[in-house]
Amino acid sequence: MAKIKVLNPIVELDGDEMTRIIWQMIKDKLILPFLDIDLKYYDLGMKHRDDTDDKVTVDAANAIREFGVGVKCATITPNAARVREYSLKQQWKSPNGTIRSILDGTVFRKPIIIKNIPPAVKAWHKPIIIGRHAYGDIYRNAEMIIDRPGLAEIVFTPADGSEKTIVAIHEFTGAGVVMGMHNTEKSIRSFAKACINYAISEKVDLWFGAKDTISKQYHGFFRDVFAEEVNSAKERLAGAGVNYRYMLIDDAVAQVIKSPGGMLWACMNYDGDVMSDMVATGFGSLGLMTSVLVSPDGKYEFEAAHGTVMRHYYEHLKGNPTSTNSIASIFAWTGAIAKRGELDGTPDVVSCAKRLEEIVIQTVLDGIMTKDLMLIAEPAVNKYALTEEFIDAVASRLKQPIS
Ligand code: NAP
Ligand code: MG
Repeated sequence: MAKIKVLNPIVELDGDEMTRIIWQMIKDKLILPFLDIDLKYYDLGMKHRDDTDDKVTVDAANAIREFGVGVKCATITPNAARVREYSLKQQWKSPNGTIRSILDGTVFRKPIIIKNIPPAVKAWHKPIIIGRHAYGDIYRNAEMIIDRPGLAEIVFTPADGSEKTIVAIHEFTGAGVVMGMHNTEKSIRSFAKACINYAISEKVDLWFGAKDTISKQYHGFFRDVFAEEVNSAKERLAGAGVNYRYMLIDDAVAQVIKSPGGMLWACMNYDGDVMSDMVATGFGSLGLMTSVLVSPDGKYEFEAAHGTVMRHYYEHLKGNPTSTNSIASIFAWTGAIAKRGELDGTPDVVSCAKRLEEIVIQTVLDGIMTKDLMLIAEPAVNKYALTEEFIDAVASRLKQPIS
């Protein structure tokens, strides 16, 4: 079979543990036999990050800025136990955090829907995509336990030496607690732009919810900045058939549960943290949740939302069979390839990625799936595929001629 030529490079970021093993199988069996593709390879495996003093992560992020499209395997974010396990020079930062700050990106999580893997919420038929603002609010807060009566205030000291602004928070008569938090107009604007671009590229409606009835200034500021960005993208949104809805956050939650799905739900940082876990669980398995980092200037990095599946890796190292779901990792590849094809104007590359996605879904519909899906499949299936068996089943279907 003649391979399809991909015009421009894709940046490949390799990773750790079970997902690294799956990654190699996907590349060897599902991608490279069909596509002639220039992969700019960066090894973000724990050992190599340590050897390069984490420079490889920065280089990989810069390569995504240069070439526009990247695909990333899950990686270990080291904690104290990992520092010992890998004898690390230091507890390196989360690679995803580093890449996110270099690309100034917003993360979108989107579930893969398969008919025989029904979501816990019966009404959901289409993906609910969550866009989480990943800067500020309680994640960059300052807080204080109050242990005696007294007055807590917010003080703003202008850099230009003009008069301070002071707002009383609460006059404490006894013990209590207080918190200060912030966000920046620039970050909120980037977030709104990324959400608008992503809604247009996915052709789905855009919802944004906040609590501006209670927080008239803080949440109201988010609402207004978002509305301004939507207004300046009016024509592009209309051209793609995308409607924008602003709602109170509690109304948004109720509407999402009742809806058939099919929207991008833009969330403030805390709402996105909480709601993305609710939506992921509602749709079934972490093995079906994809994730993409989008920068305001249109650079994309695709990955699975799950981690390195450490428990399965240790079984694998003991020589035991594993049944690890590779679907979200496969869709990271197809997402990157389809985006590359779209940016390059090569529809045959896009079709090649779409065909792989359809074959993966058909394989599950035919009852071939890993254990995490078998446990929730309807109708029930009585046998699960091992890690490599699933990938092989997809590969053998891929080799069949296109009818
Ligand atoms: P995890 O890798 O997401 O796995 C947690 C559990 O979820 C697994 O033990 C497994 O459950 C289930 N699971 C997740 N993905 C699965 C898949 N593809 N197929 C089947 N089951 C799946 O989280 P973790 O084990 O807590 O974290 C491991 C490492 O991943 C950590 O070092 C963490 O830093 C890193 N991490 C990386 C990223 C990233 O790179 N984006 C994200 C999250 C975590 P059962 O054990 O019940 O089978
Ligand atoms: Mg969370």
